[in-house]
Amino acid sequence: MTEPAMTERAVTERTGGCLCGAVRFVVRGRLREVVFCHCSQCRRQTGLYYASTNAAREDLAITGEAEITWYGSSAHGKRGFCRHCGSALFWSYEGAQGISIQAGAFDQPSGLQPGYHIFTADKADFYTIDDGLEQFARGRAGLTTDG
Ligand SMILES: [Zn+2]
Repeated sequence: MTEPAMTERAVTERTGGCLCGAVRFVVRGRLREVVFCHCSQCRRQTGLYYASTNAAREDLAITGEAEITWYGSSAHGKRGFCRHCGSALFWSYEGAQGISIQAGAFDQPSGLQPGYHIFTADKADFYTIDDGLEQFARGRAGLTTDG
């Protein structure tokens, strides 16, 4: 059974990093579908909206972790970005088992799948959401600490 196990591990290994390359990461494990968050915080940080997957913290290995600046954007949430190039990379919620990772930071092909939209009530007025994915005006039950 050694060979099938190795094959499975290779398939589920995903890599990514920031624009300048100072921060690189590997996820070995399951990745959540991509959630698109249109809240005002995500809008201001990214210029549009936050598209993130989520991984178990123990499945994420980061190279160049010292190059990440963490900004506390709320009482329990913080946003990690590369201090050199400014790339938004992570969203972490205190006490959550998972950590959110910007979907766009993954090397392509990412293998990620689109999920749904949240906080659409707060989205900017210069674009429409018409991709057919489910939309939630606020958050979604069960996502608060795992988003
Ligand atoms: Zn960078």
